[in-house]
Amino acid sequence: MTPDRSLAEEAEVMEIIDQHASIVETTAMDHNREDEIRKALDADRDWLVDYVDINELGSVTDNDEAWDEIVAELSQQGEEHLSGRLSSLKERAERPFPSLLKLEFDPEERLEFVPGQYVRISYEDEEPRVYSIASSPNSENIELCIRRVPGGHLTPTLCDETVVGDDLFVRGPFGDEFTLTPPSDRDVIFIATGTGVAPFKSMIDYTFEENIDEFNGAKRDVWLFLGSSWEDHLPYREEFAAYTEKKENFHYVPTCSREEYLSDWDGETAYVQQSFLKYLDEQETATDELSAEIAEWISETPVYDINARIDPSSMEVYVCGIGAMADSVSDVVEQFNLPDNHYKKESYG
Ligand SMILES: Cc1cc2nc3c(=O)[nH]c(=O)nc-3n(C[C@H](O)[C@H](O)[C@H](O)COP(=O)(O)OP(=O)(O)OC[C@H]3O[C@@H](n4cnc5c(N)ncnc54)[C@H](O)[C@@H]3O)c2cc1C
Repeated sequence: MTPDRSLAEEAEVMEIIDQHASIVETTAMDHNREDEIRKALDADRDWLVDYVDINELGSVTDNDEAWDEIVAELSQQGEEHLSGRLSSLKERAERPFPSLLKLEFDPEERLEFVPGQYVRISYEDEEPRVYSIASSPNSENIELCIRRVPGGHLTPTLCDETVVGDDLFVRGPFGDEFTLTPPSDRDVIFIATGTGVAPFKSMIDYTFEENIDEFNGAKRDVWLFLGSSWEDHLPYREEFAAYTEKKENFHYVPTCSREEYLSDWDGETAYVQQSFLKYLDEQETATDELSAEIAEWISETPVYDINARIDPSSMEVYVCGIGAMADSVSDVVEQFNLPDNHYKKESYG
């Protein structure tokens, strides 16, 4: 950031260029689930035999109705955890692999952009689509984080067919509103689900590289609330966890609504906006002006042992994700009447 220009102003004057780029990495970020059901059924054999003939159950695709029946049956018998476990396994088995892709490319010319901007990608004859840049402007290559939309035009092709060395056509950067506001003494709060975290990955890398987590000599807290159904659908989970080791003022709150059905997940499970409310400083939050439901979430005990809390009168919030989720989060955040320049939202899909 130049000292006399904000990132939004820089974004406004950024030159939009068309160019070829070569893919240098294309990696699944989620787990291959091919063996997940077989392993789970083996592990669960002792209790499952009470309900079903395991050998008959077989694969989801071969025996879709039998799976639905047993999920419903378990639920009817009050076996909610087991029912949730089987329906989670089924849903995951039905999703093609990979469902979450990291795509890194090397543009012919250096692509100048500011964190929060996006590019338009063309691959082979498919319709182009736009993607937030997940890497920092200081990185040599550009990185995207792409979720497969089953039946979609571009994402199934990107997930199934891209290999290192393939050519992309890239146009950008675009977007001059969803950028970091000039540093202030406010704490920075990022709230996302799934690939909505892509622009935040760029912003977080850049924040620490450029020391803008510091204002007038004092550290600001940087929080990331990131939600998904399952842990392996949290993009960049290792990178964010690594930041918590290196940066005392970085607080990572992953929340997975359904991971507990698959593993011994003992992290947050509430929706991402509810998890955010749990980490507000109760002393600093005027709950009488908030709805009863929100006040209740604020009084909940957080799962993670984080030695910091958010003062809602001194926060700057960024929200990004798929439409309905981003709307639910903003319904909550807007109750805190943040000044316009300290609250930004981007949604798509
Ligand atoms: C500013 C901006 C930034 C974006 N950044 C990212 C990003 O970082 N990562 C990413 O994966 N996507 C991102 N997207 C979404 C992306 O542009 C495409 O819309 C998405 O990849 C689907 O493309 P497709 O051709 O496979 O599906 P399409 O053929 O476009 O869509 C098929 C159907 O799926 C619906 N649909 C579209 N997107 C979604 C979705 N995400 N979830 C569920 N249903 C959907 C459509 O409404 C349509 O009915 C961004 C969009 C915008 C506007």
